[in-house]
Amino acid sequence: LKDEVNRMERLSLVGQMAASITHEIRNPMAVIRGFLQLLNERSSPEQQTYFRIVMEELDRANAIINDFLSLAQNRIVEKESCSLNELLHELKPLLLADANMRGQTLDLRLSDSMDLLPMNVKEIKQLLLNLARNGMEAMNASGVLKIETRNTQDMIQLRIEDEGVGIAPEKLEKLFEPFYTTKTNGTGLGLALCLSIVERHNGKIKVESTLGVGTVFHVHFCKPGRDCW
Ligand code: ADP
Ligand code: MG
Repeated sequence: LKDEVNRMERLSLVGQMAASITHEIRNPMAVIRGFLQLLNERSSPEQQTYFRIVMEELDRANAIINDFLSLAQNRIVEKESCSLNELLHELKPLLLADANMRGQTLDLRLSDSMDLLPMNVKEIKQLLLNLARNGMEAMNASGVLKIETRNTQDMIQLRIEDEGVGIAPEKLEKLFEPFYTTKTNGTGLGLALCLSIVERHNGKIKVESTLGVGTVFHVHFCKPGRDCW
């Protein structure tokens, strides 16, 4: 128990440090962004190319800081009774817009019945968005992203299936490691964050993939009082 308390104290210390460092970095970055924008108003076409690159890199650094903060603050989050279907319903317009922009199709198949689970709404929405966006980013136009929910006796199940490039078997174990990415603009923090969110919600996450065919992410949440694994 003493070790566990020590571990929790260290974790919360890391979380607090991450929060204050993040805050201290965000402020100067906002100033840099603002003055760059001013400078750009008088820049040549060649300089504007550099300007776009600098802005993209600034945004990427910001995304890393935001994801890192969520990951480092592995704290006990507040939960309320929620329906996974309801959260997906709320995200639907955003997901549809994302898919449409890429020329892709969203196939949302929500279960008829859905029991409520104690969930942190912000975190579960982040989980759904991260998994859906990864799926879309793996597909070209004409791809279909299928999101399915099931309400079984013991579990709430989520299935996110894409028709994307797939993942080589030897890469599968790296997926959930922080900073593992194969994308030029990726942070590699999305799935690490997904894993920590699922673990905080009494759940498990699994992936099945075939190169050139597609990938399926399964998330299972165990209902309170049930013996799932
Ligand atoms: P990021 O999206 O920033 O790269 P993630 O942690 O979300 O970081 O994903 C890590 C890596 O896992 C991705 O760069 C990609 O190589 C792989 N990956 C994740 N989801 C999928 C998917 N649905 N299909 C194919 N590869 C995926
Ligand atoms: Mg991602």
